Amino acid sequence: MNSTRGPRLVLIGKQGAGKGTQAKRIAERFHMQHLSTGQLFRDSAAAGIDAGLKAKKFMDRGDFVPDEIVIDVVEERFANPKEVEHGFVLDGFPRTETQAVELDRILGSRTLDLVLNMEVPTEIVMARLASRKREDDTEEGIRRRLELYETETKPLVDFYDCLGLLVTVNGVGEEDEIFGRMLAAIETRLTY
Ligand code: ADP
Repeated sequence: MNSTRGPRLVLIGKQGAGKGTQAKRIAERFHMQHLSTGQLFRDSAAAGIDAGLKAKKFMDRGDFVPDEIVIDVVEERFANPKEVEHGFVLDGFPRTETQAVELDRILGSRTLDLVLNMEVPTEIVMARLASRKREDDTEEGIRRRLELYETETKPLVDFYDCLGLLVTVNGVGEEDEIFGRMLAAIETRLTY
């Protein structure tokens, strides 16, 4: 990649791994878009938009939103080149192999530069999620989401590793320390 744009990144990791916090900081650092599908759904549900209201039913149960709905929302964002021309960081998408394949199609020639896998032990994410107090952070919802991570999202680690795009970052520690590790991974990997 070159210096005229920021990197095109995906963050993957368990719920509560800190993807949202780090994605926001990375996006600010490179002056680029931060796209969180969870946040998009929460915002559009609050605004009474149909896709958001549909998504909310699944989110409240701790289930994944069906792929078709998620893909439509992401595709809509990428249809506007201005949104992503300076690079982007995707947080919470893709979460299934189908979504990863669809992302590849949506991106076309704007191929990904790097997939950052934030590794945090389950006991730590459980504690973080329990203190977050979001509407969908019930004990049952958390358990269900961690199960879905194992069955649906974890296979993406191998998927992106096989494509040579994956870097695993230790997600345990202070926020600044983790941000430092993320930046180092991005900068080591990419030549500006
Ligand atoms: P968390 O990391 O705790 O899951 P998010 O804000 O990323 O928080 O997502 C909240 C919820 O939104 C998820 O539990 C899921 O129901 C839904 N969601 C977000 N992104 C996706 C996605 N890519 N595929 C399916 N469901 C999603």
